[in-house]
Amino acid sequence: MLKQFEVWFITGSQHLYGPKTLEQVAQNSQAIAKALDGSAHIPVKVVFKPVVKTAEEISDICVQANNAPSCIGLITWMHTFSPAKMWIAGLRSLQKPFLHLHTQFNRDLPWGEIDMDFMNLNQAAHGDREFGFIGSRLRIQRKVVVGHWSEDGVQQKIGTWTRAAAGYQEMKTLKVARFGDNMRNVAVTEGDKVEAQIRLGMTVHGFGVGDLVKEVNLVSEEAITKLAAEIESKYNVADELKKGGKRHDSLRESAKIEIGLRTFLEKGGFKAFTSNFEDLHGLVQLPGFSVQRLMADGYGFGGEGDWKTAALVRAMKVMAVGLSGGTSFMEDYTYHLHPSGAKVLGAHMLEVCESIAEQKPIVEIHQLGIGGKADPVRSRFTVKPGAAINVSMMDMGNRFRMVVNEVEVVPLEAPMPKLPVASALWVPKPNLAIGAGAWILAGGAHHTSFSQAVTAECMEDFAEMAGLEFLLIDDKTTISEFKKELRWNDVFYMLNKGL
Ligand code: MN
Repeated sequence: MLKQFEVWFITGSQHLYGPKTLEQVAQNSQAIAKALDGSAHIPVKVVFKPVVKTAEEISDICVQANNAPSCIGLITWMHTFSPAKMWIAGLRSLQKPFLHLHTQFNRDLPWGEIDMDFMNLNQAAHGDREFGFIGSRLRIQRKVVVGHWSEDGVQQKIGTWTRAAAGYQEMKTLKVARFGDNMRNVAVTEGDKVEAQIRLGMTVHGFGVGDLVKEVNLVSEEAITKLAAEIESKYNVADELKKGGKRHDSLRESAKIEIGLRTFLEKGGFKAFTSNFEDLHGLVQLPGFSVQRLMADGYGFGGEGDWKTAALVRAMKVMAVGLSGGTSFMEDYTYHLHPSGAKVLGAHMLEVCESIAEQKPIVEIHQLGIGGKADPVRSRFTVKPGAAINVSMMDMGNRFRMVVNEVEVVPLEAPMPKLPVASALWVPKPNLAIGAGAWILAGGAHHTSFSQAVTAECMEDFAEMAGLEFLLIDDKTTISEFKKELRWNDVFYMLNKGL
């Protein structure tokens, strides 16, 4: 899916060096672009573009990039010196993100052979500094990656950035369907949808739950029977829910909701949606299993009307394509505050995505005290130990803030046979006291997008593209430094419109 996207490899130079050198520059750039295009770390196409040597050529390529729907960003590199006043007009018009690759074609100094020709050809060491200055002078957010282009670490950083660019591209065109409004009185899941559209491009479309009910009621008995059979073959389904079981009708009801929901989203071109348990008029059960399955198919979701998290889950699912590990809507639900090491049990009422399951999910039905509806079907599983991130996006009034906490998913200390929902157990970095403390000081939400595929670096790249405030809580975080960062950011975001 990510191969539909291109990043353009743009090399800057000038006419000073003569045609022979420029020919060499073009050949070398082509070789680098080809290597990056073939890199297993880079999931999008890398397309070589002719070397730019004048302000006109630079402006032209930036306009072309703006107008090319498949182009999600530029990789820029100054093989030789490219006087940066030539870049002002182009960069000012550029509407796509760019990554500045600070590399050199030749990895090593040719000690015994080095002469002035070598020096004049391999000038990125100062050419990229001139280019860097104009990026900073124009106050443009970009990623700078330093190192030889053949290195794994360099290609990984570029690959991470292309994933962020793909997520950003998705966000620009994302349509979120919102069934009902927000859960009453909840603050953090609210926000300015107009500003979100200006900043991120995403649009939020409100519907009465009755609009969904209408689609659900159109689902045929045959389609329900087919999906119910498919579910029985794919999962470990509880006997009572199986065909012939005494609660099979509940599984059919869940299948009916799923088909209706899927049809509604497909018809409207929605790739993310929200529900609200306070507004389920006409639905027999809270959509649980159906939401879990739709998320596993790539849809973003947020509970209780949380459109920001729904959009974030979708964008992160796009960033994660092809990587191992899943991405899910998540909530910090309850704690294990044992002195030997405090942990968080993450879950939701029902809606945890099967992409993070470490084993074949079990499909069951249990009572749900909240919502006042029939018992909902859900799938249940645990999550594989390992690194993950929790990401949350809040509207701070004058900007959107993204906060990311790196966490370590850990094994359960004992089975939880009575827990009726899917869950993950993790330790926030650097530990619960600092991790949760910093999160709360940042105003981080209880809802998150949880991922074992997307990294904090990728989210930072994304935040920079979208102009979001970015806060990272990791193993180096201390509360007193974090507090300072919050205070400095408050000032920065008050002033930055004038910077
Ligand atoms: Mn919730």
